[in-house]
Amino acid sequence: MQNVHTHAWDSALHFQPETIREADLSRGYPLDLTVRLEPFLQDMSAFEKVVVFGLKARRTGYWVPDDYVAEFVARAPEKLVGFACCDPTQPEHFEELKYAIEHLKLRGVKMGPIYAGFDPRDSMCAPVYRYCQENGLPILFHTGTTFNHNAPLNYGRPWLFDEVAIQYPGLHMVLAHCGHPFSEECLVVIRKHPHVYADISALYYRPWQFYNTMIAAQEYKVTHKLLFGSDYPFAKGPDSIQGLRNVNQIIGSSGLPRVSDQVIADILGRDALNLLGVTL
Ligand SMILES: [Zn+2]
Repeated sequence: MQNVHTHAWDSALHFQPETIREADLSRGYPLDLTVRLEPFLQDMSAFEKVVVFGLKARRTGYWVPDDYVAEFVARAPEKLVGFACCDPTQPEHFEELKYAIEHLKLRGVKMGPIYAGFDPRDSMCAPVYRYCQENGLPILFHTGTTFNHNAPLNYGRPWLFDEVAIQYPGLHMVLAHCGHPFSEECLVVIRKHPHVYADISALYYRPWQFYNTMIAAQEYKVTHKLLFGSDYPFAKGPDSIQGLRNVNQIIGSSGLPRVSDQVIADILGRDALNLLGVTL
């Protein structure tokens, strides 16, 4: 099993106080979001490979340096695959990205347009996309909503990535959280583009929405483009696996359509890193 979506960070070092306050408010209780290696690895014990990244987004108060992620993954290199982070609104972003890939040996890129406040179609992203396409680096984009009040929802819409995919057909992309709650918009984008995938991280705990997303994916025949992710520390690995296995529980014996057992098994068994062109 592989997990394409987990985070490593120290909230006291890497988040602004206002950002921590908003995270607490979103759950209704104080969250300890700092990721520590031992409990993290225990949570990830079911997975052979785990993609790990931080987040860089000045606008909403996240800044996890790439060397922090590189050091974190170097402590369990047989399992952890580190991705760099990129906030293209910041002047040094391209040099930082090249350093993260070429010196820190990170294997892909995470971007959060909604958090950093940029339109993913903006021409300022072109050098990053070109570099990633030329060097076989996948980009995982946060798509869908968030709790940060200063994050413009408009930049989380999955349809924005359709134009990016048309312009960069060789660029491997993952649209995180299947664009939640704009999941159908996400499904029609991944249907069109061979190199665009979606992850299903952090969806299981809204079981009715999750069920409908999975049924829509089945009806659009795009379940082969869905990758497993958990979004640790927001959602735990074992709960996320169980949540997928139990996706049909909510319909009981109502007679509503079911997500097929084969679809569930295929998502859990998928060699996502290979599909994204990450050579291990
Ligand atoms: Zn995440």
